Amino acid sequence: MMKIDVLTLFPEMFSGVLGQSILHKAAEKSAVSYGVINFRDYADNKHNSVDDYPYGGGAGMVLMPQPIFDAVDDLKAKATSGKTRVILLCPQGERYDQRKAEELAKEDHLIFICGHYEGYDERIREHVVTDEISIGDYVLTGGELGAMVVIDSIVRLLPEVLGNEESHMKDSFSTGLLEHPHYTRPADFRSWKVPEVLLSGNHKLIEEWRNKEALRRTLVRRPDLFEKIELTKSQQKWLEEVKKEYE
Ligand code: SAM
Repeated sequence: MMKIDVLTLFPEMFSGVLGQSILHKAAEKSAVSYGVINFRDYADNKHNSVDDYPYGGGAGMVLMPQPIFDAVDDLKAKATSGKTRVILLCPQGERYDQRKAEELAKEDHLIFICGHYEGYDERIREHVVTDEISIGDYVLTGGELGAMVVIDSIVRLLPEVLGNEESHMKDSFSTGLLEHPHYTRPADFRSWKVPEVLLSGNHKLIEEWRNKEALRRTLVRRPDLFEKIELTKSQQKWLEEVKKEYE
């Protein structure tokens, strides 16, 4: 079972997200267990402070190393697995993507550190963190929302968490491409019709249509993704056909 620990100053923020839907079901199925810890509990000064003024002056407060180091040491000592990835949420980190989610989903123990304030003492980055992750090129007030995004994307990849109907295998990015469009009843809604082929019952043609539409969507919206994958012979042929439609 994967163990996910979160170090935060705002543990209440997590109860909604971890207590609902797939993330909650995953814990019920014992695919994962969550620990949400207020790292203020580890502060060893009499005011329980976790931050201080930056050396050299300037605006904002900086998270002190002591509470974070002690909390991580304690969580590692309690973990059953020998190996822990310690993940710092931070706008300067590597940009998060599905490949990273797949990599982290193979681990046994993850600790997320959510910052607030201006920054972290650099020694946290240098000596306790194994991965720095940014969820995008914008600045949040704290790491909590970022940690939730990363945790959600990892937990849904764990074995047995999603049923067959919700399988992640064909999701956008899992295949290297964006996913094809979906339709459901009615077949005609306000005169907008579902593509004929999806009503045909011909599974081979439906599969071909979906493959082609996934390629079209990727070509139109995210052509950069083609640089990262190797297309099969059939995909190359379909992509050529799609490209011709735009000439
Ligand atoms: N002064 C920092 C900088 O310029 O890099 C930004 C600090 S930000 C106000 C406070 C915290 O929010 C960060 O320590 C980090 O935990 C979190 N955070 C902000 N933007 C983020 C992003 N794009 N991805 C992940 N975490 C983020």
